[in-house]
Amino acid sequence: MLTDDHNPHNTMNQKKRLEIFDRLAAAIPDPTTELHYSSAFELLIAVVLSAQATDKGVNKATAKLFPVANTPRDILALGEAGLKEYIKTIGLYNSKATHIITLCRQLLDKHNGQVPQTREELEALAGVGRKTANVILNTAFGQHTIAVDTHIFRVANRTGIAPGKNVLEVERKLEKCVPKNHMKDAHHLLILHGRYTCIARKPRCPSCVIEDLCEYRYKTSYEEQDIAREDKRVS
Ligand code: SF4
Repeated sequence: MLTDDHNPHNTMNQKKRLEIFDRLAAAIPDPTTELHYSSAFELLIAVVLSAQATDKGVNKATAKLFPVANTPRDILALGEAGLKEYIKTIGLYNSKATHIITLCRQLLDKHNGQVPQTREELEALAGVGRKTANVILNTAFGQHTIAVDTHIFRVANRTGIAPGKNVLEVERKLEKCVPKNHMKDAHHLLILHGRYTCIARKPRCPSCVIEDLCEYRYKTSYEEQDIAREDKRVS
């Protein structure tokens, strides 16, 4: 993943970073996932389903799936074809169904039906990569991991908090530089800020709570915001 968003004359420092996270934490009082779940297993399934899909779409499908099957045994009982019926509105549902069936078998065979709590064990499960493992460790088990997705990658580079050429570089930098008191929530603070304010096409800089601290070179103005709104109305 490459970006030209970050400022080569970055002057970000720890004092500014702390101020940025303090303000984001004040502006986003409930920094958590928008996926619906009530157990580590449900979250794992929801996160696997959410790859290249919206949280809204996943929630719609799991609202029907979880009341019927929310344990590895229940999902295996549905079978791959039965599972597909519940998730067929989600992109890549064929391969996701195959992964989920294998994953459920692995959980029963190796982990007593429980979701493991280490990165190595999580990444050994079908359909679970580094990002998914980080989400589970952080959201289900409260560990201080940051799963760098497209939103976090963009915000880290634009603001100058943790610029990097790829997700791993950004992840490593964030792990080093996020103030300790914000480490647990940093993941969701950055995702939600990226999803609703620092949006990809037209960031909402005029209403951004960290506008004066952000080092992005192409901040938007009120005029551009109005033009963007007008474009939307016309189209
Ligand atoms: S000022 Fe603009 S570019 Fe910077 S974080 Fe806020 S919305 Fe994103």
